[in-house]
Amino acid sequence: MQERYDIVVVGAGHAGCEAACAAAQMGARTLLITMDMNKIAQMSCNPAVGGIAKGQIVREIDALGGHMGQVTDRTTLQFRMLNRSKGPAMWSPRAQCDRGRFIWAWRQVVENQQNLSIWQDQVRELLVENGQVKGVETYLGMTFLARCVIITAGTFLNGLMHIGRTKLPGGRCAEPPSLQLSESIARHGITLGRMKTGTPVRIDGRSVHFEDMTLQPGDHDFHRFSYLPAPVPSVASNAPAPSVASDAPAPSVASGAPVPSVATESQLPCWITYTNPAVHERLRQGLPDSPLYNGQIQSIGPRYCPSIETKLVTFADKEQHQLFLEPEGRNTQEYYLNGFSSSLPIDVQVEALRLIPAFRDIKIYRPGYAIEYDYFDPTLLHHTLESKKVDGLFLAGQVNGTTGYEEAAGQGLVAGVNAALKCSGGGEFVMHRDESYIGVLIDDLVTKGVDEPYRMFTSRAEFRILLRQDDADARLTPRAYNLGLATEARYRHWTEKQEEINRILDFCKNYSVKAALINPYLEKLGSAPLAKGCKLVDLISRPGLSFDNLSPALPRLAQALSQTPNRREEITEAAEVLVKYSGYIERERQQAEKMQRLEELHIRGRFRYDEIQSLSTEARQKLSHIDPETLAQASRIPGVSPSDISVLMVLMGR
Ligand SMILES: Cc1cc2nc3c(=O)[nH]c(=O)nc-3n(C[C@H](O)[C@H](O)[C@H](O)COP(=O)(O)OP(=O)(O)OC[C@H]3O[C@@H](n4cnc5c(N)ncnc54)[C@H](O)[C@@H]3O)c2cc1C
Repeated sequence: MQERYDIVVVGAGHAGCEAACAAAQMGARTLLITMDMNKIAQMSCNPAVGGIAKGQIVREIDALGGHMGQVTDRTTLQFRMLNRSKGPAMWSPRAQCDRGRFIWAWRQVVENQQNLSIWQDQVRELLVENGQVKGVETYLGMTFLARCVIITAGTFLNGLMHIGRTKLPGGRCAEPPSLQLSESIARHGITLGRMKTGTPVRIDGRSVHFEDMTLQPGDHDFHRFSYLPAPVPSVASNAPAPSVASDAPAPSVASGAPVPSVATESQLPCWITYTNPAVHERLRQGLPDSPLYNGQIQSIGPRYCPSIETKLVTFADKEQHQLFLEPEGRNTQEYYLNGFSSSLPIDVQVEALRLIPAFRDIKIYRPGYAIEYDYFDPTLLHHTLESKKVDGLFLAGQVNGTTGYEEAAGQGLVAGVNAALKCSGGGEFVMHRDESYIGVLIDDLVTKGVDEPYRMFTSRAEFRILLRQDDADARLTPRAYNLGLATEARYRHWTEKQEEINRILDFCKNYSVKAALINPYLEKLGSAPLAKGCKLVDLISRPGLSFDNLSPALPRLAQALSQTPNRREEITEAAEVLVKYSGYIERERQQAEKMQRLEELHIRGRFRYDEIQSLSTEARQKLSHIDPETLAQASRIPGVSPSDISVLMVLMGR
């Protein structure tokens, strides 16, 4: 049987779901094909969203009209704003989520998305004619023709799992690998590589001595992921209700708790414990059977998410490593042991864990394991995530050599938008490095390539004061609205917020603080007295002063803040960041504008690099391979030096 769509998305993981929804939201007739509809947006590893730099990506996805933020808010078990003690560029939201509900919340989104159909099957062949994608063929014998195809197959491409010396083909635990598809893509000149990642044991909470661990509570304030208002109705009514297996619930599980919308639900704690020398000794004894150390696994894993055995080898002197025990759901006994990722044999994993006091009687549901999978060289992609080799083929997510749900989702959204634009003949959607972390991520991928699984860090962004979690809506919502991606309601929500922020900023610029009035109060706060009066905007930029602690002494300020009708805390925080950090923000904006000038010098197709003798040999090779779009992108290619850029500028007559 044959069907025709504008866009076919292969794989309903984090990249695939955002890609399919974005394309459909923009009016493209879209089909999402996935192996198992009950595992839509399954979190293969930790059921947590966000964290450092990743949380900013989720806020960006939300600001653009994507769904990860809302799905996370609807299924949050615990929310924390990380790095609150640092400057606002570093604040990063993170939520522990209910794994089962997350799947069903996403499924509800995709099932109800206009223009989007779903087909449960496995794609095995990419159809290409004369360098142009034509569609896909599936194992069930279906042919789906399309103008664009987006591949988001995650860790499934020729996936091979390892537990000790045991090897099992699989895309992740208990799921089959995707066979043949990699080869059918590589046939068109797209280079394949191999990477690996790993996950820890899942623990039965009834066997844990919670009294021997430290409790880690969540934050209780207004922060969450989505910029949109109140939590959408709970998906709990649609969710399968996993039965609580025992009449002796683990202390931290609110077993039998009602399941109203997340905003009104109590948060669940996580728990902290540590490994010890005895644990390390038992793990060391298992190293000869570790696939990471006996040559069984050759591919490269994520450096910043090492397995426990890698930590032992890399940090041989450390006597303990911190572990976080995190709930997998509100109504389950299953716990995830963050920090104990391992592919050692099962008996080694369990025996080592039993040497930790809280786990002395431990029972596990399943062991940790490692997985190897194929990825495609991302330098063969344009910034739109379209392949340079096959017209109409887009790649997004883990298949581009990244790791992480957020990195995948951000790419998925960009691929979905660009595929939709291609179908309607409407240009390209590319975000610059000063616009979003997603822009940084994609520019890094297509410019520098990957030699290990790529995850986002704040340090990868040169303009991180411009890429804060509080202002992703300011950066991206107007653009998304103009594209037809963000709804009118979302846009209005943003403009109302902007008006309120501007009103508060105007107040701060115009309101004069009298020295005699404020000085006694400043003294109490430990802040130097004013020699003469000043505008509030100048006073508040002092360290230690805030709207909150100045309001009691300045009733007009308190009154100005109280006039905000909705989302007062969010708007006040956003305005305060803009006032307090205006100097830093302005400086970064000027630097970004300088870079933007190079960004505007388009060079693709302008040079035959291999003929320019004044370039270094390395620069000639790299520039020929990447064929950068702009001079700015050329300057970021590793191996291309400032003097190579000067050569190009001279040739351009600059
Ligand atoms: C064991 C393990 C441990 C991990 N550990 C970490 C970690 O510690 N930290 C971290 O940040 N990330 C980790 N990850 C990675 C994280 O899961 C991925 O980054 C993220 O899920 C990638 O999202 P994605 O959408 O690209 O792919 P996935 O979430 O893998 O989704 C791929 C989807 O494609 C479908 N699919 C695949 N092939 C086909 C086909 N041929 N036809 C139809 N459908 C297909 C699958 O069914 C699935 O729905 C781990 C992953 C695994 C498997």
